[in-house]
Amino acid sequence: MRTDDFRVGIGYDIHRLSEGRRLILGGIEIAHPKGLIGHTDGDAVLHAVTDALLGAAGLPDIGDLFPDTDPAYKDADSRVLLADAVERVRTRGFRAGNVDVIVHAEAPKLSAYKAQIAESIARLVGLAPQDVSVKAKTNEGLGPLGHEDAIACTAIASVVRMVDCERTAKANRQ
Ligand code: MG
Repeated sequence: MRTDDFRVGIGYDIHRLSEGRRLILGGIEIAHPKGLIGHTDGDAVLHAVTDALLGAAGLPDIGDLFPDTDPAYKDADSRVLLADAVERVRTRGFRAGNVDVIVHAEAPKLSAYKAQIAESIARLVGLAPQDVSVKAKTNEGLGPLGHEDAIACTAIASVVRMVDCERTAKANRQ
């Protein structure tokens, strides 16, 4: 693989927590008294992953593609938005290489959910489970994240240009 076949993108998102909302992270519902508020289902993890993939492919970001002023995305399932983004990335000639995620959450403890979240992201992005990594960090009690007012997510994704992969494979065979 040539180095110019390989690109990376970064994504970040934060949503406020509120009582009486379902908590959905990475497309997985998590038992917790609070959930994330948003125009969509508030899934900060999938939003960060979506932006990382879009950024890697040089596409517009999630806010440009699925604006929160558009009623079509009211209470939207973020899995659908990610699937749409993955298709746009593919149409642009890229496939995802790997995704790495940090969830910044004081509570709930996510250790029991990390594998499930990783599998969910892998399924949605079209990756093998071992190509998606999910880490959970507290904010050491500091700031809005530490006071359980919000959950944030940082994600990075790599993509590989598919056309060049085929061309390189062909060249290697000759
Ligand atoms: Mg968001």
